[in-house]
Amino acid sequence: MSEQNRPTNFIRQIIEADLAGGKHEKIHTRFPPEPNGYLHIGHAKSIVLNFGIAEDYGGECNLRFDDTNPHKEDVEYVEAIKEDVRWLGYQWSGLYYASDYFEQLYQFAVELIEKGLAYVCDLTPEQVREYRGTLTEPGRESPYRNRSVEENLDLFRRMRAGEFPDGSRTLRAKIDMASPNMNMRDPTLYRIRRGAIHHQTGDEWCIYPMYDFTHPISDALEGITHSLCTLEFEDHRPLYDWVLDHISAPCHPRQIEFARLNLEYTVMSKRKLTQLVEEGHVEGWDDPRMPTIAGLRRRGYTPASIRDFCNRIGVTKVDGTVEMGMLEAAVREDLDRTAPRRMAVLDPLKVVITNYPEGKVETLEAPNHPKDEAMGSRRVKLTREIYIDRADFRESANKKYKRLVLGGEVRLRNAYTLICDEAIKDDQGEIVELRCHYDPDTLGRNPEGRKVRGVIHWVSASEGVPAEVRLYDRLFRVPNPAAEDAPLGELLNPDSLQVVQVVVEPALADAAPGERFQFEREGYFCRDAVEAEQGKLVFNRVVTLRDSWAKVEKKE
Ligand code: ATP
Ligand code: MG
Repeated sequence: MSEQNRPTNFIRQIIEADLAGGKHEKIHTRFPPEPNGYLHIGHAKSIVLNFGIAEDYGGECNLRFDDTNPHKEDVEYVEAIKEDVRWLGYQWSGLYYASDYFEQLYQFAVELIEKGLAYVCDLTPEQVREYRGTLTEPGRESPYRNRSVEENLDLFRRMRAGEFPDGSRTLRAKIDMASPNMNMRDPTLYRIRRGAIHHQTGDEWCIYPMYDFTHPISDALEGITHSLCTLEFEDHRPLYDWVLDHISAPCHPRQIEFARLNLEYTVMSKRKLTQLVEEGHVEGWDDPRMPTIAGLRRRGYTPASIRDFCNRIGVTKVDGTVEMGMLEAAVREDLDRTAPRRMAVLDPLKVVITNYPEGKVETLEAPNHPKDEAMGSRRVKLTREIYIDRADFRESANKKYKRLVLGGEVRLRNAYTLICDEAIKDDQGEIVELRCHYDPDTLGRNPEGRKVRGVIHWVSASEGVPAEVRLYDRLFRVPNPAAEDAPLGELLNPDSLQVVQVVVEPALADAAPGERFQFEREGYFCRDAVEAEQGKLVFNRVVTLRDSWAKVEKKE
């Protein structure tokens, strides 16, 4: 990114000052997901921030799996996370696992014990909670707090050796049970998890370090300069610093917190997303309605649009909720520039062009993009019977209706003008077919002395190809589902998916899996890559076009 176009935010200002002042020569950041679920758009904010900084300041960014919780984690997530980061357009400098450091972490814990700064505590988890006190009352010291260094070393070694059952003992930092910051009241550093099989270390360990102990040390071991995390860790920063101040750490990274991304009409925690998948409310982690990177990718979002969105929302210390419209605008702008145009009729109404010869198939060149000649053209086929969209015809309408009316004339996109002579109805009075004629003199030029109302899209009835289109709407019917009392399942938008059978122009039959198009006058669509594996022609609507007609109609 050129220097002028770089995003600016308080974190980048700190980094620029650190570089200018010589505090660091090279910036080193990291993105540290826990592999207990798929990444979502909130993680994208952190990815774009961390990798973007490394990119813009000639630094490095690691991908580190924060894998200290063997029960909830899995290699399936590790692989998915790597794929998502790469797809977003980033390459990590180093790939690490916090579990790579288990031995070193153990040695640092021993160092704290030796310094009299950590002890083995035999309180049960309930007692630990009880002793911790509350925000208004100080905690009480554990009766095990003053064990000798020798006893602590012995017990900690035996914890590692698997001699004690889960929950019977912990290793705790000896800090201050009266601290106003609850995180400083002798926080747990290690817990026992016997029998757990870790996805990286197998059954090698039966004690596991806590996040607050693991994170600062992992950062320091990797030479991270700026450790960027979300605001809920602000209260943990004193502990982050305490750990690094009391061990022989190779360096002391600076933790800086920023606000999480919250998006309207969706949920953003892995726990809630897991619930949606497990309760069957969505098809899976990559359901196109999910705010996961996998879902957005399948839906048809581009990596560039997600990066752009993350830069536009900015990075601050103030929590807030971003409108879904911001995300949609980013992909709409990107696809407006990059997506080839195609014609697809989503609600087909048959039109017979009565003066068009039966059996004739005319091949017409149609540009792929109205503003970008370099994108070339494709061929569309005109025949006597075509489909237009039902919404593009009215028996009568005022002048603001720029489509087909009885006796009126419109242009068929990339072809001739069409004049409607008759609407044929069934017994219920529903229009089943239009009879029209065309003007053969109007290819690439306007008719003389007659006014054409507008341009509509169409597809040949015989040359067109059937396809399925999936129209997506927001997954929830309330703006902030996480804040509601009701179970998630009851907050879903019942109309979040509408499946329609449509007709598309022949060129779309060869669409590559994941290929994106603008269906003219309808929106942006992407060929579903999963269905394509079965040879099915399914298009997901990425996002609608702005419908100016709907606005005009409201004003009338
Ligand atoms: P979740 O509750 O969704 O599991 P998490 O914070 O526990 O979120 P991690 O895998 O631990 O998920 O997160 C990896 C990184 O992504 C962390 O640095 C975290 O702060 C950041 N992150 C997670 N969610 C968001 C969000 N909504 N906005 C910005 N950054 C986020
Ligand atoms: Mg987490």
